[in-house]
Amino acid sequence: MASDVSSERERMVLKELARARDHIPDDELVSCVRELVLVRLCITPYKEVTLQIQFPPGYPASPVVVILKSKALPQSLVAKLKNLCEAEAAAHVAMCQVVPVYDKLKGFMVQNLLIAAWDELVALRSDGGDGEETLSKKIKLYEAQGKVKLVLAQGKYKLTAELTIDNQYPASPVELEITRSNFTPQYEAMFAAHAKELARLAVSGPLQRLSTTKTRSSYAGSTFAERGGRRILGKTRRLLADLEAAEAAASTPEPSKTVEPRRSLLEVAQYLMSSVANYPTQPCQCCEEPVFPADPTELGKVTSKALQVERVYCGHFYHYGCLDVFLNSPPFNSDGKPCPACGKRIFHRKWSNDAKELESGWAHKQARHREIGEVIDFLGEDAVGETYEGAPPPWLAGALARAGLVVPGDVAAAATAAAAPPPSSAAGKRKRKKKKKATARMAQDDMSAFL
Ligand SMILES: [Zn+2]
Ligand SMILES: [Zn+2]
Repeated sequence: MASDVSSERERMVLKELARARDHIPDDELVSCVRELVLVRLCITPYKEVTLQIQFPPGYPASPVVVILKSKALPQSLVAKLKNLCEAEAAAHVAMCQVVPVYDKLKGFMVQNLLIAAWDELVALRSDGGDGEETLSKKIKLYEAQGKVKLVLAQGKYKLTAELTIDNQYPASPVELEITRSNFTPQYEAMFAAHAKELARLAVSGPLQRLSTTKTRSSYAGSTFAERGGRRILGKTRRLLADLEAAEAAASTPEPSKTVEPRRSLLEVAQYLMSSVANYPTQPCQCCEEPVFPADPTELGKVTSKALQVERVYCGHFYHYGCLDVFLNSPPFNSDGKPCPACGKRIFHRKWSNDAKELESGWAHKQARHREIGEVIDFLGEDAVGETYEGAPPPWLAGALARAGLVVPGDVAAAATAAAAPPPSSAAGKRKRKKKKKATARMAQDDMSAFL
Protein backbone atom coordinates (compact mmCIF):
# COMPACT_ATOMS: atom_id res chain seq x y z
CA MET A 1 0.00 0.00 0.00
CA ALA A 2 2.76 2.43 1.03
CA SER A 3 4.71 1.64 -2.12
CA ASP A 4 1.56 2.25 -4.18
CA VAL A 5 1.30 5.74 -2.68
CA SER A 6 4.99 6.52 -3.21
CA SER A 7 4.96 5.22 -6.77
CA GLU A 8 1.81 7.28 -7.47
CA ARG A 9 3.58 10.34 -6.02
CA GLU A 10 6.69 9.60 -8.11
CA ARG A 11 4.61 9.18 -11.25
CA MET A 12 2.76 12.48 -10.67
CA VAL A 13 5.96 14.42 -9.87
CA LEU A 14 7.58 13.21 -13.10
CA LYS A 15 4.43 14.09 -15.01
CA GLU A 16 4.43 17.59 -13.44
CA LEU A 17 8.10 18.11 -14.35
CA ALA A 18 7.56 16.97 -17.93
CA ARG A 19 4.56 19.27 -18.35
CA ALA A 20 6.41 22.18 -16.75
CA ARG A 21 9.38 21.75 -19.14
CA ASP A 22 6.97 21.56 -22.02
CA HIS A 23 4.86 24.58 -20.99
CA ILE A 24 7.16 27.09 -19.28
CA PRO A 25 9.57 29.05 -21.52
CA ASP A 26 13.25 28.11 -21.04
CA ASP A 27 14.26 31.64 -20.06
CA GLU A 28 11.80 31.52 -17.16
CA LEU A 29 12.38 27.98 -15.96
CA VAL A 30 15.44 28.15 -13.71
CA SER A 31 15.19 24.68 -12.20
CA CYS A 32 12.89 21.70 -12.76
CA VAL A 33 13.81 18.69 -10.61
CA ARG A 34 12.04 16.34 -8.18
CA GLU A 35 12.85 18.57 -5.20
CA LEU A 36 11.52 21.80 -6.67
CA VAL A 37 10.38 23.74 -9.70
CA LEU A 38 11.88 27.25 -9.79
CA VAL A 39 10.50 29.88 -12.16
CA ARG A 40 11.65 33.48 -12.52
CA LEU A 41 9.07 35.82 -14.00
CA CYS A 42 10.45 39.18 -15.09
CA ILE A 43 7.88 41.18 -17.02
CA THR A 44 9.91 44.36 -16.38
CA PRO A 45 12.55 45.09 -13.71
CA TYR A 46 9.66 46.57 -11.71
CA LYS A 47 7.39 43.54 -12.18
CA GLU A 48 9.56 40.62 -11.17
CA VAL A 49 8.86 37.57 -8.98
CA THR A 50 10.42 34.18 -8.30
CA LEU A 51 8.05 31.21 -7.92
CA GLN A 52 9.28 28.13 -6.11
CA ILE A 53 7.10 25.01 -6.00
CA GLN A 54 7.83 21.95 -3.85
CA PHE A 55 6.04 18.62 -3.63
CA PRO A 56 5.13 17.82 0.01
CA PRO A 57 4.97 14.22 1.33
CA GLY A 58 1.17 14.16 1.01
CA TYR A 59 1.29 15.22 -2.67
CA PRO A 60 -0.74 14.85 -4.93
CA ALA A 61 -3.59 14.44 -2.39
CA SER A 62 -2.44 17.69 -0.77
CA PRO A 63 -1.52 20.89 -2.65
CA VAL A 64 2.04 21.80 -3.63
CA VAL A 65 4.02 24.19 -1.41
CA VAL A 66 4.33 27.67 -2.96
CA ILE A 67 7.13 30.09 -2.04
CA LEU A 68 7.17 33.53 -3.68
CA LYS A 69 9.98 36.06 -3.52
CA SER A 70 10.39 39.48 -5.13
CA LYS A 71 12.81 42.35 -4.74
CA ALA A 72 10.64 44.69 -6.80
CA LEU A 73 7.13 44.09 -5.49
CA PRO A 74 5.89 45.21 -2.07
CA GLN A 75 5.52 42.41 0.48
CA SER A 76 1.76 42.96 0.83
CA LEU A 77 1.35 42.22 -2.87
CA VAL A 78 3.68 39.19 -2.72
CA ALA A 79 1.51 37.79 0.10
CA LYS A 80 -1.61 38.36 -2.00
CA LEU A 81 -0.03 36.62 -4.99
CA LYS A 82 0.97 33.69 -2.77
CA ASN A 83 -2.66 33.28 -1.66
CA LEU A 84 -3.71 33.36 -5.30
CA CYS A 85 -1.22 30.59 -6.18
CA GLU A 86 -2.17 28.46 -3.17
CA ALA A 87 -5.86 28.69 -4.03
CA GLU A 88 -5.06 27.57 -7.57
CA ALA A 89 -3.00 24.62 -6.27
CA ALA A 90 -5.81 23.60 -3.89
CA ALA A 91 -8.28 23.68 -6.77
CA HIS A 92 -6.11 21.14 -8.64
CA VAL A 93 -5.46 18.64 -5.85
CA ALA A 94 -4.91 15.11 -7.21
CA MET A 95 -4.12 16.63 -10.60
CA CYS A 96 -1.12 18.43 -12.10
CA GLN A 97 -0.71 21.70 -10.16
CA VAL A 98 2.55 23.30 -11.33
CA VAL A 99 1.37 24.53 -14.72
CA PRO A 100 -1.99 25.89 -13.43
CA VAL A 101 -0.17 27.76 -10.62
CA TYR A 102 2.38 29.16 -13.10
CA ASP A 103 -0.38 30.20 -15.53
CA LYS A 104 -2.36 31.90 -12.77
CA LEU A 105 0.64 33.86 -11.52
CA LYS A 106 1.90 34.87 -14.95
CA GLY A 107 -1.59 35.82 -16.11
CA PHE A 108 -1.97 38.11 -13.11
CA MET A 109 1.49 39.62 -13.58
CA VAL A 110 0.99 40.33 -17.28
CA GLN A 111 -2.65 41.38 -17.28
CA ASN A 112 -2.70 43.49 -14.14
CA LEU A 113 -1.02 46.69 -15.27
CA LEU A 114 -1.42 48.30 -11.86
CA ILE A 115 0.99 45.90 -10.13
CA ALA A 116 3.95 48.28 -10.39
CA ALA A 117 1.92 50.97 -8.61
CA TRP A 118 0.54 48.64 -5.94
CA ASP A 119 1.96 50.35 -2.86
CA GLU A 120 1.04 53.74 -4.29
CA LEU A 121 -2.56 52.60 -4.67
CA VAL A 122 -2.62 51.29 -1.10
CA ALA A 123 -1.35 54.69 0.09
CA LEU A 124 -3.82 56.52 -2.16
CA ARG A 125 -6.79 54.67 -0.66
CA SER A 126 -5.76 55.54 2.88
CA ASP A 127 -4.49 59.05 2.13
CA GLY A 128 -6.34 61.80 3.99
CA GLY A 129 -4.07 64.53 2.64
CA ASP A 130 -3.47 68.05 3.80
CA GLY A 131 -6.58 70.23 4.00
CA GLU A 132 -8.61 67.49 2.37
CA GLU A 133 -10.97 66.67 5.24
CA THR A 134 -13.93 67.96 3.25
CA LEU A 135 -12.84 66.46 -0.07
CA SER A 136 -15.02 63.65 -1.36
CA LYS A 137 -12.83 61.04 -3.05
CA LYS A 138 -13.79 57.89 -4.95
CA ILE A 139 -11.18 55.61 -6.46
CA LYS A 140 -11.94 52.97 -9.06
CA LEU A 141 -9.29 50.61 -10.40
CA TYR A 142 -9.23 49.07 -13.88
CA GLU A 143 -6.34 46.61 -13.55
CA ALA A 144 -6.39 45.27 -17.12
CA GLN A 145 -6.26 48.80 -18.54
CA GLY A 146 -3.76 50.09 -15.99
CA LYS A 147 -6.26 52.80 -15.16
CA VAL A 148 -7.11 54.55 -11.90
CA LYS A 149 -10.25 56.65 -11.96
CA LEU A 150 -10.40 59.46 -9.40
CA VAL A 151 -13.75 61.10 -8.75
CA LEU A 152 -13.16 64.19 -6.61
CA ALA A 153 -15.55 66.78 -5.22
CA GLN A 154 -15.13 69.77 -2.93
CA GLY A 155 -18.47 71.46 -2.30
CA LYS A 156 -20.02 72.00 -5.71
CA TYR A 157 -16.65 71.76 -7.46
CA LYS A 158 -16.12 68.40 -9.15
CA LEU A 159 -13.33 66.80 -11.11
CA THR A 160 -12.97 63.31 -12.55
CA ALA A 161 -9.58 62.22 -13.81
CA GLU A 162 -8.11 59.02 -15.20
CA LEU A 163 -4.50 58.14 -14.46
CA THR A 164 -3.10 55.42 -16.71
CA ILE A 165 0.14 53.45 -16.56
CA ASP A 166 1.44 50.83 -18.97
CA ASN A 167 3.54 47.69 -18.52
CA GLN A 168 6.77 49.73 -18.57
CA TYR A 169 5.79 51.93 -15.60
CA PRO A 170 7.64 53.58 -13.86
CA ALA A 171 10.06 53.76 -16.81
CA SER A 172 7.17 55.24 -18.80
CA PRO A 173 5.24 58.15 -17.27
CA VAL A 174 1.75 58.27 -15.80
CA GLU A 175 -0.76 59.58 -18.35
CA LEU A 176 -3.47 61.90 -17.09
CA GLU A 177 -6.81 62.77 -18.59
CA ILE A 178 -9.37 65.02 -16.93
CA THR A 179 -12.60 63.49 -18.19
CA ARG A 180 -15.11 65.69 -16.34
CA SER A 181 -14.85 68.87 -14.35
CA ASN A 182 -16.70 72.09 -13.61
CA PHE A 183 -13.54 74.11 -13.07
CA THR A 184 -12.90 76.61 -15.86
CA PRO A 185 -11.00 75.29 -18.92
CA GLN A 186 -8.01 77.39 -17.80
CA TYR A 187 -7.86 75.62 -14.44
CA GLU A 188 -8.35 72.23 -16.06
CA ALA A 189 -5.48 73.05 -18.41
CA MET A 190 -3.32 74.16 -15.49
CA PHE A 191 -4.04 71.00 -13.47
CA ALA A 192 -3.30 68.82 -16.50
CA ALA A 193 -0.10 70.67 -17.38
CA HIS A 194 1.26 70.56 -13.84
CA ALA A 195 0.36 66.89 -13.39
CA LYS A 196 2.01 66.06 -16.71
CA GLU A 197 5.15 67.88 -15.64
CA LEU A 198 5.24 65.95 -12.34
CA ALA A 199 4.95 62.69 -14.29
CA ARG A 200 7.63 63.75 -16.77
CA LEU A 201 10.04 64.84 -14.03
CA ALA A 202 9.71 61.43 -12.37
CA VAL A 203 10.84 59.71 -15.57
CA SER A 204 13.24 62.17 -17.22
CA GLY A 205 14.38 64.52 -14.48
CA PRO A 206 14.79 68.27 -14.93
CA LEU A 207 15.64 69.63 -18.36
CA GLN A 208 19.31 70.57 -18.75
CA ARG A 209 20.82 73.17 -21.01
CA LEU A 210 24.21 72.38 -22.46
CA SER A 211 26.97 74.91 -21.80
CA THR A 212 28.07 76.83 -24.90
CA THR A 213 30.78 79.01 -23.34
CA LYS A 214 33.74 76.70 -23.79
CA THR A 215 33.28 75.99 -27.49
CA ARG A 216 32.79 79.62 -28.37
CA SER A 217 35.83 80.95 -26.50
CA SER A 218 38.19 78.31 -27.88
CA TYR A 219 36.98 79.02 -31.41
CA ALA A 220 37.49 82.76 -30.90
CA GLY A 221 40.96 82.18 -29.47
CA SER A 222 42.32 80.09 -32.32
CA THR A 223 40.76 81.89 -35.27
CA PHE A 224 39.59 85.39 -34.49
CA ALA A 225 42.45 86.61 -32.29
CA GLU A 226 45.29 84.86 -34.14
CA ARG A 227 44.45 85.67 -37.74
CA GLY A 228 43.18 89.25 -37.57
CA GLY A 229 42.54 91.31 -40.71
CA ARG A 230 39.34 92.70 -42.11
CA ARG A 231 38.55 89.96 -44.57
CA ILE A 232 39.14 87.32 -41.99
CA LEU A 233 37.27 89.36 -39.41
CA GLY A 234 34.16 89.41 -41.59
CA LYS A 235 34.49 85.72 -42.36
CA THR A 236 35.08 84.91 -38.72
CA ARG A 237 32.04 86.87 -37.70
CA ARG A 238 29.94 84.88 -40.13
CA LEU A 239 31.49 81.67 -38.88
CA LEU A 240 30.90 82.71 -35.30
CA ALA A 241 27.29 83.53 -36.12
CA ASP A 242 26.90 80.11 -37.76
CA LEU A 243 28.58 78.46 -34.82
CA GLU A 244 26.33 80.27 -32.37
CA ALA A 245 23.26 79.23 -34.32
CA ALA A 246 24.47 75.62 -34.35
CA GLU A 247 25.23 75.77 -30.64
CA ALA A 248 21.85 77.30 -29.90
CA ALA A 249 20.21 74.43 -31.77
CA ALA A 250 22.37 71.89 -29.96
CA SER A 251 21.70 73.46 -26.58
CA THR A 252 17.94 72.96 -26.77
CA PRO A 253 17.01 71.62 -23.34
CA GLU A 254 17.12 67.87 -23.23
CA PRO A 255 16.28 65.42 -20.45
CA SER A 256 19.20 64.36 -18.31
CA LYS A 257 19.99 60.74 -19.04
CA THR A 258 21.13 59.60 -15.63
CA VAL A 259 17.77 59.77 -13.84
CA GLU A 260 16.45 56.56 -12.32
CA PRO A 261 12.68 56.48 -13.08
CA ARG A 262 10.57 57.20 -10.04
CA ARG A 263 6.96 56.18 -9.41
CA SER A 264 4.71 59.21 -9.68
CA LEU A 265 1.13 57.94 -9.79
CA LEU A 266 0.57 58.78 -6.12
CA GLU A 267 2.27 62.17 -6.49
CA VAL A 268 0.09 63.09 -9.48
CA ALA A 269 -3.07 61.88 -7.72
CA GLN A 270 -2.18 63.79 -4.55
CA TYR A 271 -1.55 66.95 -6.56
CA LEU A 272 -5.02 66.68 -8.12
CA MET A 273 -6.64 65.90 -4.77
CA SER A 274 -5.05 68.85 -3.01
CA SER A 275 -5.86 71.16 -5.94
CA VAL A 276 -9.54 70.19 -5.96
CA ALA A 277 -9.64 70.34 -2.15
CA ASN A 278 -7.96 73.70 -1.77
CA TYR A 279 -8.62 75.84 -4.84
CA PRO A 280 -12.35 76.43 -4.29
CA THR A 281 -11.77 77.66 -0.72
CA GLN A 282 -8.80 79.96 -1.36
CA PRO A 283 -9.19 83.44 0.16
CA CYS A 284 -7.83 86.66 -1.30
CA GLN A 285 -4.77 87.49 0.83
CA CYS A 286 -5.74 91.18 0.94
CA CYS A 287 -9.47 91.26 1.65
CA GLU A 288 -9.74 87.64 2.91
CA GLU A 289 -12.91 87.04 0.89
CA PRO A 290 -12.96 83.77 -1.13
CA VAL A 291 -11.64 84.35 -4.64
CA PHE A 292 -13.83 81.62 -6.14
CA PRO A 293 -17.64 81.60 -5.88
CA ALA A 294 -19.26 78.77 -3.91
CA ASP A 295 -21.16 77.91 -7.06
CA PRO A 296 -18.82 77.07 -9.95
CA THR A 297 -21.47 78.08 -12.50
CA GLU A 298 -20.75 81.68 -11.41
CA LEU A 299 -17.10 81.30 -12.45
CA GLY A 300 -17.46 82.52 -15.99
CA LYS A 301 -19.88 85.33 -15.21
CA VAL A 302 -17.52 87.86 -13.62
CA THR A 303 -17.06 90.95 -15.70
CA SER A 304 -15.28 93.20 -13.18
CA LYS A 305 -11.53 93.22 -13.68
CA ALA A 306 -11.01 94.04 -9.99
CA LEU A 307 -12.57 90.71 -9.03
CA GLN A 308 -10.59 88.60 -11.44
CA VAL A 309 -8.48 85.94 -9.75
CA GLU A 310 -4.70 86.29 -9.75
CA ARG A 311 -2.37 83.58 -8.49
CA VAL A 312 1.13 84.75 -7.65
CA TYR A 313 4.47 82.93 -7.64
CA CYS A 314 4.10 81.51 -4.11
CA GLY A 315 0.74 79.97 -5.05
CA HIS A 316 -1.52 82.30 -3.06
CA PHE A 317 -4.55 83.97 -4.57
CA TYR A 318 -5.64 87.60 -4.85
CA HIS A 319 -8.34 89.64 -6.47
CA TYR A 320 -6.80 91.63 -9.28
CA GLY A 321 -7.99 94.90 -7.72
CA CYS A 322 -6.69 94.04 -4.25
CA LEU A 323 -3.28 92.96 -5.54
CA ASP A 324 -3.00 96.02 -7.75
CA VAL A 325 -3.53 98.38 -4.81
CA PHE A 326 -1.30 96.30 -2.52
CA LEU A 327 1.64 96.28 -4.95
CA ASN A 328 1.24 99.92 -5.97
CA SER A 329 1.11 101.37 -2.47
CA PRO A 330 4.03 102.16 -0.13
CA PRO A 331 6.25 101.08 1.46
CA PHE A 332 8.37 100.12 -1.56
CA ASN A 333 11.72 98.47 -1.04
CA SER A 334 14.21 96.67 -3.24
CA ASP A 335 13.23 93.26 -1.82
CA GLY A 336 9.73 93.64 -3.22
CA LYS A 337 6.52 93.00 -1.30
CA PRO A 338 6.12 89.85 0.76
CA CYS A 339 2.95 87.78 0.44
CA PRO A 340 0.93 88.41 3.64
CA ALA A 341 0.20 84.68 3.90
CA CYS A 342 3.64 83.12 3.46
CA GLY A 343 6.15 85.98 3.39
CA LYS A 344 7.58 84.98 -0.01
CA ARG A 345 8.25 87.81 -2.42
CA ILE A 346 5.35 88.44 -4.79
CA PHE A 347 6.16 87.99 -8.46
CA HIS A 348 3.63 88.52 -11.20
CA ARG A 349 4.27 89.42 -14.80
CA LYS A 350 1.50 92.04 -14.72
CA TRP A 351 3.24 94.12 -12.06
CA SER A 352 6.70 95.65 -11.94
CA ASN A 353 9.23 94.45 -9.38
CA ASP A 354 11.22 97.66 -9.63
CA ALA A 355 10.82 99.58 -6.35
CA LYS A 356 11.90 102.89 -7.91
CA GLU A 357 9.43 102.54 -10.72
CA LEU A 358 6.64 101.69 -8.29
CA GLU A 359 7.57 104.58 -6.02
CA SER A 360 7.62 107.14 -8.81
CA GLY A 361 4.31 105.77 -10.02
CA TRP A 362 2.89 106.24 -6.55
CA ALA A 363 4.33 109.76 -6.23
CA HIS A 364 2.97 110.65 -9.64
CA LYS A 365 -0.46 109.48 -8.63
CA GLN A 366 -0.32 111.35 -5.35
CA ALA A 367 0.81 114.54 -7.03
CA ARG A 368 -2.04 114.47 -9.47
CA HIS A 369 -4.55 113.29 -6.84
CA ARG A 370 -5.72 110.60 -9.09
CA GLU A 371 -8.18 108.05 -8.01
CA ILE A 372 -7.32 104.44 -8.49
CA GLY A 373 -9.51 103.69 -11.43
CA GLU A 374 -9.43 99.90 -11.29
CA VAL A 375 -10.79 99.64 -7.76
CA ILE A 376 -13.49 102.28 -7.93
CA ASP A 377 -16.24 99.82 -8.74
CA PHE A 378 -14.83 97.48 -6.13
CA LEU A 379 -14.57 99.84 -3.15
CA GLY A 380 -17.00 102.56 -4.08
CA GLU A 381 -15.98 106.03 -5.08
CA ASP A 382 -16.22 107.41 -1.54
CA ALA A 383 -13.71 104.90 -0.13
CA VAL A 384 -11.03 105.67 -2.68
CA GLY A 385 -11.36 109.39 -2.13
CA GLU A 386 -11.62 109.56 1.62
CA THR A 387 -9.41 106.83 3.07
CA TYR A 388 -6.84 105.72 0.56
CA GLU A 389 -4.94 108.96 0.12
CA GLY A 390 -3.99 109.10 3.80
CA ALA A 391 -3.96 105.80 5.62
CA PRO A 392 -4.59 102.55 3.75
CA PRO A 393 -8.20 101.37 3.80
CA PRO A 394 -8.94 98.88 6.62
CA TRP A 395 -8.94 95.82 4.36
CA LEU A 396 -5.57 96.72 2.88
CA ALA A 397 -4.09 97.75 6.24
CA GLY A 398 -4.85 94.23 7.44
CA ALA A 399 -2.92 92.76 4.52
CA LEU A 400 -0.05 95.22 5.04
CA ALA A 401 0.11 94.34 8.74
CA ARG A 402 0.11 90.60 8.00
CA ALA A 403 2.88 91.14 5.45
CA GLY A 404 4.85 93.01 8.13
CA LEU A 405 4.55 96.29 6.22
CA VAL A 406 3.52 99.65 7.63
CA VAL A 407 3.18 102.83 5.59
CA PRO A 408 5.88 105.30 6.77
CA GLY A 409 4.41 108.22 8.66
CA ASP A 410 1.09 106.47 8.96
CA VAL A 411 2.01 103.92 11.58
CA ALA A 412 -0.68 104.93 14.00
CA ALA A 413 -3.26 105.46 11.30
CA ALA A 414 -2.52 102.08 9.74
CA ALA A 415 -2.62 100.31 13.08
CA THR A 416 -5.87 102.01 13.99
CA ALA A 417 -7.31 101.24 10.60
CA ALA A 418 -6.25 97.60 10.82
CA ALA A 419 -7.84 97.23 14.23
CA ALA A 420 -10.86 99.43 13.52
CA PRO A 421 -14.28 97.83 13.35
CA PRO A 422 -16.04 98.09 9.99
CA PRO A 423 -17.39 101.57 9.27
CA SER A 424 -20.87 102.03 10.64
CA SER A 425 -21.84 105.13 8.70
CA ALA A 426 -24.42 104.96 5.96
CA ALA A 427 -21.60 105.41 3.45
CA GLY A 428 -19.72 102.50 5.04
CA LYS A 429 -22.76 100.26 4.89
CA ARG A 430 -23.33 101.18 1.30
CA LYS A 431 -19.69 100.49 0.60
CA ARG A 432 -19.76 97.05 2.22
CA LYS A 433 -22.98 96.18 0.47
CA LYS A 434 -21.43 97.18 -2.81
CA LYS A 435 -18.31 95.16 -2.07
CA LYS A 436 -20.32 92.10 -1.06
CA LYS A 437 -22.35 92.34 -4.21
CA ALA A 438 -19.20 92.68 -6.24
CA THR A 439 -17.56 89.72 -4.51
CA ALA A 440 -20.47 87.53 -5.51
CA ARG A 441 -19.43 87.95 -9.11
CA MET A 442 -16.22 86.13 -9.91
CA ALA A 443 -13.70 86.04 -12.67
CA GLN A 444 -11.71 83.62 -14.69
CA ASP A 445 -8.07 83.63 -13.82
CA ASP A 446 -5.33 84.66 -16.16
CA MET A 447 -3.57 81.31 -16.39
CA SER A 448 -0.76 82.35 -18.67
CA ALA A 449 1.04 83.83 -15.67
CA PHE A 450 1.83 80.49 -14.16
CA LEU A 451 1.34 77.87 -16.84
ZN1 LIG B 1 -9.49 90.66 -2.40
ZN1 LIG C 1 2.13 83.40 -0.50
